[in-house]
Amino acid sequence: MNPSALLEWTLDSGVVKELEAAWPLEGCGFIVETEMGLAWVKAKNCSTTPQEDFELSPEEVIGVLEARGLVAIVHSHRGASTLSSKDIMGATFASPQGREPFYPGILWLVIGIRDGRVEEGSVWKINGSKGEGSLAGNAERLAFMSCL
Ligand SMILES: [Zn+2]
Repeated sequence: MNPSALLEWTLDSGVVKELEAAWPLEGCGFIVETEMGLAWVKAKNCSTTPQEDFELSPEEVIGVLEARGLVAIVHSHRGASTLSSKDIMGATFASPQGREPFYPGILWLVIGIRDGRVEEGSVWKINGSKGEGSLAGNAERLAFMSCL
């Protein structure tokens, strides 16, 4: 999936309205590819601090993986569409080789919202890293778009 096309689709779709409605909490969900094209699957933010981060429920993750076609995991931020170190920690796990991605090949979309309005979006690829302690080099921005 072309990261810029995916971001454009997301920013033009009803996804942003739902994420804006969740503000000031972080909203989250999945983008899946079906026979009909891309589709949005809204998820519940299970974090105990949903104004600062997000957490997916295992049931919803398993459901979307079983249905197949998962393209991207989406969540919103209050502010910039950068990944936080907590995001990277949550998207990777420790192994003897270093940190490895939980969902290899799945893109991460972060939508930046300020005052309830979408301002920007980024598509990220989360890679592994050699060191357990270091998060540097774990994520790579593939696309960015500003709505301002
Ligand atoms: Zn985040």
